[in-house]
Amino acid sequence: MQKRPINKFIIITILALFVPIFTYTIYQVVQFDENEQIIESIYDRQLETIILAINEYCYDFYANYYSELTQAAVKDARNLTGSNDGPTIIKESENYLPVAATLFRFSPDYYRIEFSDRYKATNPSLRELMRKANQLIAENEDQLNRTINYYVKGGYLQPIAKNWSSRNFEYTFLLFPIVHNDWPGTGPIIGGLVIDDMTFITKFIDRHFNNITEGEFEFAVQKHGESDLFYYSTDDKPQEPFELSESLWMLDDMDIKIKMAGTTLNRLAKQRARNNLILLIVVNIVFIIGMVYVIRNVSKEMELAKIKSNLVANVSHEIRTPVALIRMYAETLEMNRIKDDGKKQKYYKTILAETVRLSQLINNMLDFSKIESKKKEYRMSRNDLCDIVHQVLDMYHHNFEQKGFKVELNIETDLPYANIDPEAITQATSNLLDNAMKYSQDDKRIGVSLVQEGQQLVLSVQDHGIGIPESEHKKIFQKFYRVGDSLVHNTKGSGLGLSLVSHIMQVHKGKVMLKSKPGQGSTFSLVFPIPNLSGA
Ligand code: ADP
Repeated sequence: MQKRPINKFIIITILALFVPIFTYTIYQVVQFDENEQIIESIYDRQLETIILAINEYCYDFYANYYSELTQAAVKDARNLTGSNDGPTIIKESENYLPVAATLFRFSPDYYRIEFSDRYKATNPSLRELMRKANQLIAENEDQLNRTINYYVKGGYLQPIAKNWSSRNFEYTFLLFPIVHNDWPGTGPIIGGLVIDDMTFITKFIDRHFNNITEGEFEFAVQKHGESDLFYYSTDDKPQEPFELSESLWMLDDMDIKIKMAGTTLNRLAKQRARNNLILLIVVNIVFIIGMVYVIRNVSKEMELAKIKSNLVANVSHEIRTPVALIRMYAETLEMNRIKDDGKKQKYYKTILAETVRLSQLINNMLDFSKIESKKKEYRMSRNDLCDIVHQVLDMYHHNFEQKGFKVELNIETDLPYANIDPEAITQATSNLLDNAMKYSQDDKRIGVSLVQEGQQLVLSVQDHGIGIPESEHKKIFQKFYRVGDSLVHNTKGSGLGLSLVSHIMQVHKGKVMLKSKPGQGSTFSLVFPIPNLSGA
């Protein structure tokens, strides 16, 4: 009954928040492999994009060169009939570094070839170059014609790239037709660029690769059919396999291979997927901890709210009966209808007994609120406990009598004084007596004893009532706690009495002891230390 609102809160929170998050986590765990694949494919696409960017960059290099060659060639062609000294096409600028030679074939028997100075030492001879050009042009005549058609239709001039290697050089021979409306000759001019592969890779591809990947990827170039790498971008030969390999547009028979720097795609994807999963699990754990914390706090708050409303209900209930009794008897007396003195006396006693109980209840409430706000003060002084016990018993005399209780006393004489706050001990004893009456049934004997046991004074209140199970012995001293027994719930109470008793005894450096079994009554003992006078 008491737990219902908090249960509802927990269920709603679990349904609204935890179920979706937990389901998502399970889903992620199940999808782990698939996530890995997705991440891998994203990286794969990234690799493809890098290679595409490199190839396009190579093409741009060629295209720039092509337009300059075209202009120069046409200019040359106009001068053909006059002099043989056309403009120098090779420029020794940084940009053309990898170009070993340029070549124009204006007609089958008219060539114009220029070598780059830089390559003079390793260059093949003029004759060799001519022979190679003739051979390539003859072999690729059809393709060259097709290239012209593509160009006319689509404006795109893809060169024919052919590998040309010998012992001391590794070149790529680019052949392309130069299409120009002003060319007065019959066939097309065929242009040629001889590119030094290694310089092209190191000066262009490598530099550009590093610009776009910022060191996160590595690449290598490998010739078709060869197991050794022609070039690799790292200092040491890469040990791990490359992730993607595509052919280089501008260099014949060459593949560019690419991988992530220092790791593999698979490893990285696994790591990412695992990190995501760990993050999700951490989020779950944090969420659970947060939930537990919130639920705890909320349940505390709810319990407190419940306790408050219970307290108001219980206290008003407890106050109502004595107030009604007092009023009834006072009214009857006031009307002077009772002539019998004995009866009058009885009414007065009832009124007195009920006011004692009422003031006891009000004291409990006031003290509780003072203790809670830490304003409760105790005034300790040396006192005779015996006097206090007698005063309390006097106070409760009418209550006992009226309810038919018989008090059995065992109070030792000449007991030492104790250091106590008389008001607080009166209240603690009253609470014990009140409980003894409340929780007694047919056997209406209450034992009150005050004895010295060694260096302690022990004040006990014993009843023969419903008793308390062992498991409840500690709990009944907590604030608002009432045993969940139907016998207990038939009696009125706020659950404050014993918590006050326990608090009072702590302040007195003493303790409360309990001996009780269900059905066999209870004995509550207040144990006080006897102050050591010799040392004082
Ligand atoms: P209250 O009596 O107002 O409920 P208390 O703090 O005085 O509050 O007591 C706490 C609980 O301990 C009671 O509700 C009851 O269950 C149990 N209890 C206290 N005294 C006795 C007793 N003498 N016999 C049986 N049960 C007792």
